[in-house]
Amino acid sequence: MNGIVIIGAGEAGTRAAFALREAGYGKSVTLVGSEPHLPYERPPLSKPLEGAVRMKTICSADMLEAAGIAYLAGLSAVRIDAASRSVLLSDGRTLAYDKLLLATGARPRRLSCPGADYALDFRSFADATAIFSRAAAGRSAAIIGGGLIGMELAAVLRGKGMAVTIVEAAAKPLGRAVPPRLAASLHARHVEEGVRFHLGQGVAEIMPDAVVLADGTKVPADIVVSAIGVAPDTVLAEAAGLAIGNGILADAFLRTSDPHIHAAGDCAAVAQPGGRHVRFESWRNARHQAETAARNMAGASEAFVATPWFWSDQYDLGLQVAGLPQPEHECVARPLADGALEFNLDGGRLVAAAGLGIGTSLAREIKLAEMLIAAGVHPEPAILADPAVNLKALLKSARAA
Ligand code: FAD
Ligand code: NAP
Repeated sequence: MNGIVIIGAGEAGTRAAFALREAGYGKSVTLVGSEPHLPYERPPLSKPLEGAVRMKTICSADMLEAAGIAYLAGLSAVRIDAASRSVLLSDGRTLAYDKLLLATGARPRRLSCPGADYALDFRSFADATAIFSRAAAGRSAAIIGGGLIGMELAAVLRGKGMAVTIVEAAAKPLGRAVPPRLAASLHARHVEEGVRFHLGQGVAEIMPDAVVLADGTKVPADIVVSAIGVAPDTVLAEAAGLAIGNGILADAFLRTSDPHIHAAGDCAAVAQPGGRHVRFESWRNARHQAETAARNMAGASEAFVATPWFWSDQYDLGLQVAGLPQPEHECVARPLADGALEFNLDGGRLVAAAGLGIGTSLAREIKLAEMLIAAGVHPEPAILADPAVNLKALLKSARAA
């Protein structure tokens, strides 16, 4: 009667705890989280409304209690003993388990230049509070890294009247996950809003009031934020002898190399058809993997299948990307009056779609595109490019065929 222990009370761990109950799991469920608060969502941290940092909780204490989930907040798991199936906690307690879920997420990568400690990370509610408590009109911020966090934070800080500079190692911002045309539109909007960019630049040193770039340029900054990506938190898994790659390796059923341990969310590198392991760093992936892992831990045998999807809000613009657009894909743009929508075809098959518009204006198109991707359609590029062709009608005819 040992039940299930979940390490990590972020999106994946918390969602898994509730999904276990939804799947009818009756034994004990213990959720261990090193942060002191109720489980909360990270996306709103970089999209604060009216200036205040938002703590959007995933659930209340009453919901945890009603579901019979024992939530141990502010405690860390420090060691897994896979042989005896137990976990040692930071307060000295040991929890025995029948099954264990690793939902340890990811940690910010750290700069290694002199003065790196002056730079603030941006991952947790505590980080957001530290950043926004120093943000005020007339002050200046240097953000190292022009990825999703760097660009979202730049938009918010400009909205607060701060002078914002982004230092990005690559030649263009948003090069990792955003299709080039949409990344260029977002970059242009930031320039229009007054954000200064230093592209193709490393950081030589961080000082209390400035960042010194590799070419010697000194960028004055009251706040420096490091947003140079994350690394999966695999420390416990590695020490427990689990197989590790770019994350904790899991099969399609989200089982790790130990049959009693599953993994989900930002920490998990999951086997894909063809054998490659892929790790996604997005909110919906964490939720969906957690739900599949929970059902499997409760006795199901379900392979994880989902089209990757993420969104980003910058100024009044909403970006959505479904699937994984790759440079080698055929890219088909669909002209729109007030936004941009594009589709990616791989060998004629629709595999990805991305849109940039005001707010959530393109949400419906991206949802339909996701359904078309899941249906495995091979549409004519000219049809996709024609704004007069209704995507819903295309889906209907694909399903009928
Ligand atoms: P995490 O959220 O990292 O949670 C892991 C938890 O485990 C952490 O609380 C950690 O403290 C805890 N933990 C780790 N080790 C231990 C241990 N040994 N013992 C106990 N607890 C432990 N994604 C989107 O798709 N769209 C967005 O707009 C978006 N915006 C974002 C904005 C910000 C500022 C950030 C930081 C991320 C954003 N993301 C967004 C990414 C998304 O939030 C993550 O992909 C998601 O939170 C991953 O969930 P997770 O549960 O796997 O990991
Ligand atoms: P990211 O998207 O990986 O972007 C990091 C950027 O920093 C990359 O462009 C990287 O360039 C650059 N970089 C790396 N080292 C650098 C250096 N020394 N100097 C200057 N630039 C450097 O990561 P992130 O923006 O930090 O976000 C962290 C996590 O939060 C990710 O998991 C992200 O998916 C998630 N998040 C998601 C959303 C969303 O989906 N809307 C929003 C916010 C955050 P290279 O690629 O060339 O290394």
